[in-house]
Amino acid sequence: MVKWKLGLLFVFIIILFETNAQNYPQNYFRYPLDSLPNLVSPFGGLRDNHFHSGMDLRTNQQEGLPVFASADGYISRIKIQSIGYGKAIYIDHPNGYTTVYGHLQKYSGKIAQWIHNYQYKNQTFEFDYVFEKPILLVKKGDTIGLSGNSGGSSGPHVHFEIRNTKSEKIINPTLFGIIPFDTINPTIKKVFIYKYVNDGLLLKKELKIDQTHISKLKEFTNVFIYNKQTELEEDQYGFGIEAIDFIHNQEDEKGIYEYSLKHKGKLVFKHTLNQFAFNESKYINAHIDFPFYKTEKFRIQKCFIDDGNEFSTYETNIEKGKIYLTEKSIDTLIFQVIDNNKNFFVLYLPIKVLNKKTDIQKVSYLKSLKGIKAFYPLTKNTIKTKDFSFELEEKSLYDTVYYKYDILPKPLKAFSKTYKIFNQTAPIHKAADISIKPVKVKSDLESKLLLAYYFTDEKNYKSAGGNFDGGVVKGKASNFGHYFITIDTVAPIIKQIFLNTEEAINDSLHYYFEIKDNFSGIGKYEGFLNNEWILLDFDAKSNLLTYHFDEVWKKQVADNKDSKLNNTAIIKPEVLIRVTDKKGNVAEKSFEMPITF
Ligand SMILES: [Zn+2]
Repeated sequence: MVKWKLGLLFVFIIILFETNAQNYPQNYFRYPLDSLPNLVSPFGGLRDNHFHSGMDLRTNQQEGLPVFASADGYISRIKIQSIGYGKAIYIDHPNGYTTVYGHLQKYSGKIAQWIHNYQYKNQTFEFDYVFEKPILLVKKGDTIGLSGNSGGSSGPHVHFEIRNTKSEKIINPTLFGIIPFDTINPTIKKVFIYKYVNDGLLLKKELKIDQTHISKLKEFTNVFIYNKQTELEEDQYGFGIEAIDFIHNQEDEKGIYEYSLKHKGKLVFKHTLNQFAFNESKYINAHIDFPFYKTEKFRIQKCFIDDGNEFSTYETNIEKGKIYLTEKSIDTLIFQVIDNNKNFFVLYLPIKVLNKKTDIQKVSYLKSLKGIKAFYPLTKNTIKTKDFSFELEEKSLYDTVYYKYDILPKPLKAFSKTYKIFNQTAPIHKAADISIKPVKVKSDLESKLLLAYYFTDEKNYKSAGGNFDGGVVKGKASNFGHYFITIDTVAPIIKQIFLNTEEAINDSLHYYFEIKDNFSGIGKYEGFLNNEWILLDFDAKSNLLTYHFDEVWKKQVADNKDSKLNNTAIIKPEVLIRVTDKKGNVAEKSFEMPITF
């Protein structure tokens, strides 16, 4: 237990919940499934390279549940991708908001018909169409499609968003009253203490906040005090937390709505997930301790802001969340986390500030940086040699990035030397423009050149894309790694497959094909049934092309029925699949199908 008097220090415990400045219409939007709100993942959840832009609605591991229009409006956009949101619908509502529904299995009624016509007319499965005027009107509760698992989804669910139609900012749907029942308080599991070191950060301490380290303050059931004083030397510090939340009766972690830090009664830092813009989402990599996440695989949410972090969800002191702790004082830090149901958790962290003395860890860290090159935030950073250039535009970095630079000999099968701009754990906000001059190649191979990169294992290199242009290979670098030029002359592989699922066995209404590419990735895919273009669904995560028997197939069957009656030659159905990778290597394969009447 803390020795000093709690009473004196904690007289002023006031927990204020600010109401949202903007008033969002309540009960205007209905929950788009035929159940009570139940989430797999909340708005703003912490993901790789982004904050979750919507709510993931639970469909109990099933596909095919009806998805309803959340309110009256019209279909304003239809987007179909083999990745990302998969099959998605956007509805504009007269009150200035847009709702979005992603990962659908299929569309319903007139919407499905419109899409099918569009796909045949434009001979494409994937497209992004914005309606200039209302054509497809919907009423609140109309079925717009069935729930699925299309696109980059990792299990059946519906991705649901509410956006401001004009600004396209994504808004937390709980602000509109779409909110699952939840009475469980969030928790802070760990507090992290950072020291500032010459444009860098040093993690100084990790405090575990479990039952053995905290005591309840009597009057409040969810206000706790860390029962050991933390000793820190006088200096400037930043803090971070690992916070989790649970939704009623569900075991998995759910993320939080708001967290804040107060020092001496004043707000130091607050992050609130009411709304954000899409182009801000990547600030997740500055919001969390990114290097720590890369190595330890869990996300510390910071209570201070890097110079290059312009995420709009923060409110801070002048020092952007950093605190200068002054000698010999006894300070208390107050951390608070709140979930979407306003369940909360408050933690008092007593700190004793000691005399300033030499920090050995800091000294050795600064020593380790001697002679190491650095890129700086809020400015352009460029490396240029005769055969190589690497350019980061102004707002590409959050903080100073120390990197190792070298030019290594050409790898055996490569078409250039290797350029090392290495820091495995530093994030990049906007990818760098990179260009490398290749060794001499035959002109017909120039279009097959592309960039490759690796971190530490040179055998394990990946495509960084790019094209031969004006004597060099130009591309984008999203990582600080080792870059060189390689070549892709290998066409994709096409296989007919017979799915082993019960559904697939019982149903003879599909053809399935697996397509794979060895390096640059799938660029284009097409299918023809007896020379007539057919619509193929592509699911990138399973490499699966699906032909759902439609009017082209029915016509084939009808023709053959006629031929049988008239004793003329029956035409065997033949499906031709053509797949092109991103370097223009084409694979074509024909499959003779059994005759069906
Ligand atoms: Zn989602």
